[in-house]
Amino acid sequence: MYVKSLSLKGFKSFASATHLSLEPGITCIVGPNGSGKSNVVDALAWVMGEQGAKSLRGGKMEDVIFAGTAGRAPLGRAEVTMTIDNTDGALPIDYTEVTISRTMFRNGGSEYAINGTSCRLLDVQELLSDSGIGREMHVVVGQGQLDTVLRATPEERRGLIEEAAGVLKHRKRKEKALRK
Ligand code: ATP
Ligand code: MG
Repeated sequence: MYVKSLSLKGFKSFASATHLSLEPGITCIVGPNGSGKSNVVDALAWVMGEQGAKSLRGGKMEDVIFAGTAGRAPLGRAEVTMTIDNTDGALPIDYTEVTISRTMFRNGGSEYAINGTSCRLLDVQELLSDSGIGREMHVVVGQGQLDTVLRATPEERRGLIEEAAGVLKHRKRKEKALRK
């Protein structure tokens, strides 16, 4: 399984539709300061369901929508689509190629789709959670985050290990069931 491509439109500095094709293995993004490298990483986290504005380096969620520049008006929506190569069947879905999309409008919440069919955030999270891409998004390690891991309490560290082992999903389900 690997991320095959990422398409952005109206996401942060990517006002125009931008398509990035990726290969298996390691991808490096290079460019001058402020050119949008970290925005690409934010887009990855966002399309996988990231809910924290701070994790996306913004003050509020709508900060991910292109805010306009001197020569270009702000946009009303942000859209990101990630295409995953699933020929190895790592994702529990019967498709060799899986697209996950997220759209957000200025006046409202987010819409999600898997392979073009509307779905809930929970569906995206459940699809990804068995693949090592968990809902807590430790798969996207930002600058300074290593420090947080090193300083974590034993309980917090246990959470990280549980997520990596894929048991977090079951613990969350158990907690939810017990609350009822
Ligand atoms: P560095 O090398 O300094 O880490 P970078 O390539 O990672 O830089 P980013 O942080 O990805 O750069 O991009 C920052 C740019 O994105 C800034 O110019 C900022 O104004 C722009 N930007 C962020 N959010 C938006 C938005 N909502 N609308 C328009 N532009 C935005
Ligand atoms: Mg950066």
